[in-house]
Amino acid sequence: MPTIQVALDVPVPRLFDYDAPQATEQDVGRRVLVPFGTRLKTGVLWAIVTEPGCAPKQLRPIETLWHDVPALSPTDLALLKFCSLYYHYPLGPTVFHALPPGLRRTSGWKPPRRLTGSRVLPCQEEPPPLQLNAEQQQALQDILQTANRFSCHLLHGITGSGKTAVYLALIQAMLHHGKSVLVLVPEINLTPQLEQHFQQQFPQTTLLSLHSGLGEKERVLRWLSAQEGSAKVILGTRLAVFCPMPQLGLIVVDEEHDVSYKQQEGLRYCARDVAIMRAQQGQIPIVLGSATPSLETWLNAQRGRYQRHSLTQRAIPGSTLPRIQLIDTRHTAMEQSLSAPILQALRAQLSQGAQSLVFINRRGYAPILRCPQCGWSCPCTHCSTRMVVHLRADQLRCHHCGRSRPIPSHCPQCGSAQLVTLGDGTQKVEEQLQAHFPQARILRVDSDTLSSPAQWREARNAIQQRAVDILVGTQMLAKGHDFPQLTLVAALGGDSALYSTDFRAGERLFSQLMQVAGRAGRSTLSGDVLIQTEFPDHPLFAFLMRQDYAGFAQYELSQRRISGFPPFVHQAILRAHSNRLDVLEAFMAHAHAAALALSPKPPLTLFDPVSALMPRRAGDYRMQLLLQSTRRQSLQDFLSLWEQALPAPAQRRVHWVVDVDPVAL
Ligand code: ADP
Ligand code: ZN
Ligand code: ZN
Repeated sequence: MPTIQVALDVPVPRLFDYDAPQATEQDVGRRVLVPFGTRLKTGVLWAIVTEPGCAPKQLRPIETLWHDVPALSPTDLALLKFCSLYYHYPLGPTVFHALPPGLRRTSGWKPPRRLTGSRVLPCQEEPPPLQLNAEQQQALQDILQTANRFSCHLLHGITGSGKTAVYLALIQAMLHHGKSVLVLVPEINLTPQLEQHFQQQFPQTTLLSLHSGLGEKERVLRWLSAQEGSAKVILGTRLAVFCPMPQLGLIVVDEEHDVSYKQQEGLRYCARDVAIMRAQQGQIPIVLGSATPSLETWLNAQRGRYQRHSLTQRAIPGSTLPRIQLIDTRHTAMEQSLSAPILQALRAQLSQGAQSLVFINRRGYAPILRCPQCGWSCPCTHCSTRMVVHLRADQLRCHHCGRSRPIPSHCPQCGSAQLVTLGDGTQKVEEQLQAHFPQARILRVDSDTLSSPAQWREARNAIQQRAVDILVGTQMLAKGHDFPQLTLVAALGGDSALYSTDFRAGERLFSQLMQVAGRAGRSTLSGDVLIQTEFPDHPLFAFLMRQDYAGFAQYELSQRRISGFPPFVHQAILRAHSNRLDVLEAFMAHAHAAALALSPKPPLTLFDPVSALMPRRAGDYRMQLLLQSTRRQSLQDFLSLWEQALPAPAQRRVHWVVDVDPVAL
């Protein structure tokens, strides 16, 4: 009588045993319907065991063993197991997170009548491939040399250097050998553009995109098409990293530095890191592409763990990098958010019928208190970070060590009474532009105005057909879009990042400004970039003006090393929330005591519980506890022991999760 272990979407770190007389080893990885309490639940048959955890009599029989779709392969299961262990997230919910929603239901999968999966365009000739330049050719060759084993490549190419052409050549080589390729992109809005471009290159190949914007059935169809091996190229956002692909020969992660690869709730995985693990398990190469790699990746390349390939020139002959100019807002006439030189440059662009982009950095950084007279900005006396304004509590708090002090009325350094809070607040820029340039065709691009791929497609067409004079946008516009007509970029509102408590804020600002500057002058028209700042002397700008990523990385890494921040340490944060503050505090005290009882020693450091950056959200109180170590394994070992001393993740009114390799405090 076989007993099976089933992974269920239940937040406890264990599997559930059932009786399944009909199950064989071939059924491992299939979905099953099982009784759970008084209801039925869908699970995944994880393993067949000979020794059940309880007496056979007590085992409940399964309801159904589904054969509607192929089973997950041992390779797929191994990747999920790794994710569960590495991210300290229960196995069942991990498995369910990976499945498309259409396969999580308690009813079996019924394919729709009309199949839409395939997109093969019949009888079309492959266009002649781009003639790669010397650097592209070198990168291609070096990467292909590792085609049959695991190796991690960093393709570091300035904006417009033609990284995509290298990906395409790699894909072509893989397809030629009967392999399939997974390409991850950070942003759902980038998929239609790329999908079209890739499909034109490989008209005979089934190429599918996979992202959360698809309907439930469509997403399952595409997933199955990849699993059967008929879709040879999958182009997807982070969730696609779990898509089964039996003949996978290569993974590409474009814009590898992008934070949207990190899932910020539930299973807090980073798709780039999972992709690296997947490549390692499958013994295949992986290519991480970026103009501004994450410092984690850069350090790995420096240490020789990743192979670095550089593209140092713009690929289109005659195209050059844009000129970058800083505007010191302390000594410039301002009209609300916009400085006179920017208004002037926009006016000149309009009179020439040229296209401009106004980029607004409006990331929700924590508010910082600052003295404009002497530059004081409230450093924590015990950490190399700044304290954060908590207006309601009338306190400044350090989110690293938990120290706090009352908000001062005068600057402790120079006595000035004009302390200001730095934060965002440039949402009115569109209106201001409209007031200045009533005739201009202005298009605002952010997640509020363009939520669907269709809206985005329309906007992109308008931009490309020059039906737009001034684009106003946030992060969304900074990523890999190609707008050949764009010749002026004006960037506003990045200053709060320079004085953020988040030690990664500088890295992000640099990368964003490099990316957005890279939108200008991508074809043979040359481009100009104007950056407005109150702190033109900040070292970040010196590197930016020279478009010197390597110099910036070296500077930033030396700062991180001194301060003991990642990538020189590895971090994990226990995040908990509850609608009752006393319950939450008791839980955190318990968790802290449990950690202390394990007597953490160097290289491991345990910090005190603190309230979260946003201490209350949606009515829930939120707290966190930071752990870090210079050695990844010691952190992992500690987490494994520690979580055994914690109650189940969603009990007694407290919800908690471990965030391994957090990207935000
Ligand atoms: P990146 O992704 O590195 O920013 P892209 O891959 O978008 O750059 O390439 C920028 C532009 O250069 C595209 O228009 C592309 O068609 C063109 N391009 C790429 N490689 C070459 C090449 N070898 N010769 C001519 N043009 C190229
Ligand atoms: Zn501190
Ligand atoms: Zn001062």
